Amino acid sequence: MRPACKDVDDPERFFPSSEAEAVSIATVYCRPCPLRPGCREWALRQGDYLWGVWGGTTQAERKRLRRGGVP
Ligand code: SF4
Repeated sequence: MRPACKDVDDPERFFPSSEAEAVSIATVYCRPCPLRPGCREWALRQGDYLWGVWGGTTQAERKRLRRGGVP
């Protein structure tokens, strides 16, 4: 299986400056990625300071998920 982000021209795209852009990246690249479940679990284990889009989640969404909220 190949991660969808492997073919992105600029990996910095996964570290956007706005939440809206992060949601867009998560939707376009992570949603169809075959590695998303494991990537998401890994990201959730990293804590609140992991920046960027991982496993189809933004930093803000992961914070909400860890607190038991809706992403
Ligand atoms: S789910 Fe993970 S491996 Fe897949 S595109 Fe997103 S960040 Fe990359």
